Amino acid sequence: MSETLFSGQTILLANSLLVSLLLFALWISDREQRHNLYWGGGLFAMFVVLATLPTEPPDTLSAGIALCVIASAVACTLLVQGTATFANKSLSARWLIASGLALILLFVILALSSYQGGILLATAVAAAFWFTAWTLRTYGFVEKIAAALFFIRGFMLVLAALTAEFSFTERFLNLSFISANQIVAMASALALLMVAFLANQRELERSRRLLRQGNLMAQRLGQLSDTASVVRESVKILLEEEPLSTAWIYRLDEKSQKLWMLDSGGRLAYLSRENTEIPLEGSVSGKAVHTGRVQLIDDLASDARVNRTARKLAHTHPKELAGTNIIIPLMSGDRVYGTCSYHLGLQRTLNQADFEAFEAIGQIIGLALASVDNLEEMTFRANHDSLTQLPNRAALHEAFRQHAKENPAHGATMFLLDLDKFKDVNDTLGHHVGDQLLKEIGPRLAQVAAPSKLMAARLGGDEFVCLLFKSLERAQATQLGREILEAVRARFSVDDLSLSIDGSIGISAAPRDGEDSHELLRCADVAMYQAKTTTTPVVAYNQSFDPHSRERLALMSELKASIGSEQLILHYQPKVHLASNRVSGVEALLRWKHPVHGMISPGTFIPMAEVSPMINELSLWVMEQAIAQAKLWSDLDLSVAINVSMRNLAEDTWYERAIGLIRESGIPAGKLELELTESVFMHAPDEVGRKLNAIAATGVRIAIDDFGTGYSSLNYLRKLPIHVVKIDKSFVMQLHENKADRQIVETILSLAEAMKLEVIAEGVEQEESLQLLRELGCDYVQGFHVGHPTEPTKLTTWIKERQWEAKAYGNQMNEAGAGGS
Ligand code: C2E
Ligand code: CA
Ligand code: CA
Repeated sequence: MSETLFSGQTILLANSLLVSLLLFALWISDREQRHNLYWGGGLFAMFVVLATLPTEPPDTLSAGIALCVIASAVACTLLVQGTATFANKSLSARWLIASGLALILLFVILALSSYQGGILLATAVAAAFWFTAWTLRTYGFVEKIAAALFFIRGFMLVLAALTAEFSFTERFLNLSFISANQIVAMASALALLMVAFLANQRELERSRRLLRQGNLMAQRLGQLSDTASVVRESVKILLEEEPLSTAWIYRLDEKSQKLWMLDSGGRLAYLSRENTEIPLEGSVSGKAVHTGRVQLIDDLASDARVNRTARKLAHTHPKELAGTNIIIPLMSGDRVYGTCSYHLGLQRTLNQADFEAFEAIGQIIGLALASVDNLEEMTFRANHDSLTQLPNRAALHEAFRQHAKENPAHGATMFLLDLDKFKDVNDTLGHHVGDQLLKEIGPRLAQVAAPSKLMAARLGGDEFVCLLFKSLERAQATQLGREILEAVRARFSVDDLSLSIDGSIGISAAPRDGEDSHELLRCADVAMYQAKTTTTPVVAYNQSFDPHSRERLALMSELKASIGSEQLILHYQPKVHLASNRVSGVEALLRWKHPVHGMISPGTFIPMAEVSPMINELSLWVMEQAIAQAKLWSDLDLSVAINVSMRNLAEDTWYERAIGLIRESGIPAGKLELELTESVFMHAPDEVGRKLNAIAATGVRIAIDDFGTGYSSLNYLRKLPIHVVKIDKSFVMQLHENKADRQIVETILSLAEAMKLEVIAEGVEQEESLQLLRELGCDYVQGFHVGHPTEPTKLTTWIKERQWEAKAYGNQMNEAGAGGS
């Protein structure tokens, strides 16, 4: 060991060198290259120790001092790094601080055991350095503290010069050395203060810039009205701020407890599809959501908090993903809407202000998302039915408008579904069950809707609409309508109850039936009403049953005027009793000889009249005419049947007026027959039953018309005064060649037999069918093969001839029979 370890000159030189190194390091660190600061901090610490070294240390201690120099450098480096990282809230900081503390402890032991003064000072300085840096946790402040320490150092030297108590300062009394040393100390302190001041300025400037950016961001995001554009714009703004960065924005889904990626942008956006969902559990993003604080990840690959997918990604793309990552919770108030993973592209040290700025950015985006959400919620509510969550009437019209604008050539088909007897469900099982049932209709419609691209909407009550963005022919549309109805008819289970509900569907299509959705809806409504009043559950709109189309309206008023005029007449179609081969009766069928349009079929004008009260007048008029005709035919022993529409019986007083008419006429019992379709009984069966019983009490016979096309349930017949079942012509016209028809006819016949009802088959067009019906035991036939509807005078002649023939035939048979016996 030499006599002097360090001369005053050497210390001065080392001093100057270290100060300039430190300044250089700090200057570089301004570019936010953090590790330079660590070096700077380390060198600074070394300098502090060197500055306090005596020139004449006792020999035994030189090794300890050398150790001290190194240890203090390492300690400070670690501490500076630790505090810097700790400020950024990364986990590894704690380890760094712990090791720094351990080293300080080492100093303390060394100081106590030997070279007290200097080493204690070094320890104190290191501790002060660490403490300040730690409590302030910010980078700018570390610089300030460094400057403060230089002051302390200068002060110490002055003190050393003035007091002789410090034995080791004797050498320092050399004045030129002191002044030189002090000048250096003051200069370095000033320089450091400058650095600190400038850093402060910069920070101020930066926070101002962030404020401006925040404002700008709020402004830009505030103008947007949907989530997608808010997210897109947010990514754009984030990238503008950091040219090398990448931003991923995730949306929080509370239900699945996951974050789903909405959008991404920037340098590494191509990695996005690798991490489209992040579970909240066990992820840093999850922590950001739970704590509502910005999270920092310094090293994706090694941070245990990072979820596995991201970590894997960091391993496969180590170069790209190196750099600082921040997870910003996107919040408004206390609610977290999502997160933004922000990769800065560089390794960066972030101070408190940065964190606050990122938090503010998160809040601005969060607020924008919240207001868009509110807006979307409001729009959703305005456009959706609150019970079923289906689009509502307004949304339906809007969707149609949009579609018509974009694809004017496609047209559209509208299916209006109305549930049957839904009111009964509500009344008997309660609204709760009714609501539940309505809620299940939507998914069923959607299920039919999915492959055909239908839009399902609820208009209110028990009315739903399916809109197909394509015009379908009537037949095709009816087919699809049936599929929809099938889906609705399948059993529901509500509250352990197994329910089924039926419905009727009216169909309209653009441009065939109307140009806009309001017109389509009106037409579908007309068709739906038609479906309800007939036995056909799915009906495509047809002008003929539209009470509101202009031509129809004109025709309706003409029809009303024509009641009682020559334009309306009755034709009669004969019915033949098969056993006797006699004409046993006739059916009155209305004919309208229109002065301009010629003969109009009842298939056209009766449904028209049925949608207005006019049908009541019309039916009574027909009844009057038919009774008058029946009286004229009294010598022919004919019964006269008239058709009664469902609306007649639905009306409160019609049946009383009809009974009055029948009583007044004095027509013999059994000579008047009323034909009613099955649908009559489906609506308010009790009420209809009561009215029918009153009518039947006059001796009038009741027939079920078009039997087999409706619900085909004979159950209701038991409770009603029915005398005759009239097999619909659709089963009869091809009877001779169609096995299925034959089976149906046979079934109806055996049912009727069991219930002791007479059976008539209408629509007999072939001799073979007639023979078959005779064999099967049918009572009566009616049809073109027997006789067309004919005007009464002609028919009278025809019947007379025929009865005579039948009589002759009967006589012949009788004679043959008599001869044979
Ligand atoms: P409906 O009661 O089922 O009447 C039978 C219809 O079948 C009549 O048509 C008749 O001409 C037709 N028809 C008879 N035999 C045959 C056949 O062998 N083959 C075929 N293909 N058709 C046959 P129409 O006269 O055109 O009447 C149509 C419908 O108009 C009637 O059906 C009935 O529902 C209604 N209608 C007619 N007159 C009146 C009326 O005075 N009051 C009411 N409420 N409805 C009436
Ligand atoms: Ca009839
Ligand atoms: Ca019929």
